[in-house]
Amino acid sequence: MQFVRYTTGGTPGWGVLDDDQIHALDARPGGAPSLSELGDGAVRSAIRRDVDNGVLPAEDASAVSLLAPVPTPGKIVCAGLNYHDHAEEQNEEPPEKPMLFTKSPSAVANPGDAIVHPEGVEQVDYEVELAAVIGRAGADIPKADAEEYVAGYTVLNDVSARDAQFDDGQFFRGKSYDTFAPMGPTLVAGDGFDANAADVELRVNGTVKQSSNTEEFIFDVADLVSYISGFTTLRPGDVVSTGTPGGVGIFRDPPELLEPGDEVEAEIEGVGVLENDVVAE
Ligand code: MG
Repeated sequence: MQFVRYTTGGTPGWGVLDDDQIHALDARPGGAPSLSELGDGAVRSAIRRDVDNGVLPAEDASAVSLLAPVPTPGKIVCAGLNYHDHAEEQNEEPPEKPMLFTKSPSAVANPGDAIVHPEGVEQVDYEVELAAVIGRAGADIPKADAEEYVAGYTVLNDVSARDAQFDDGQFFRGKSYDTFAPMGPTLVAGDGFDANAADVELRVNGTVKQSSNTEEFIFDVADLVSYISGFTTLRPGDVVSTGTPGGVGIFRDPPELLEPGDEVEAEIEGVGVLENDVVAE
């Protein structure tokens, strides 16, 4: 099921996107489910029945603005070098353990929001990624249980200022400029969505730049959730971003980086298309 956070101008709410209609979950008795409830198959089945029976108020998806599923994550933990094809384009050996870094939670942007190209930064790049949103708190999560801790999956564009990223020797600044973490358009949970076998694509002005499948993962979602929870507690609303496939702008010859006016579409099969335009600061 595709869950969405959205607004029609007032207080944001949660809904289910089904057949171009948004079914309002806030209208259910007890209100919209929490992230931990979204991860619960029995809760999802009850919601599915409500949607199919048409008991929730619904409106056209075109009449609402979609929002990032998690506006203020507790933390955004990202895997670098996690696709075989992305390691190859850098002539890097696949890492033996996940290579992790963080993005500032205040970098989150909504679907349709601008990616602001900062003044003084030359090399703004795109990275389409599948992101797991954590639904339950956990530490030392065994790999076999890891997916029970995931509320759902969304698209995250790990926008990166390469000059800042490489100049600093630390990724934090280059990955954390405001608007450098667009997320959405939906949060997919259940319905047989396979996080480790989804097509992943990124287009700039309609031209395909990245095209892969999460089968190329070096470490799958369970590996990452288990590994990260082994050194830091994961909490509801934390985001684990799984890395990007080959085709990023900086490693193209010559490099093809983002410029104001560019239209970026990051798409993951089953999750949807996350669209953001680049604007100058
Ligand atoms: Mg990345």
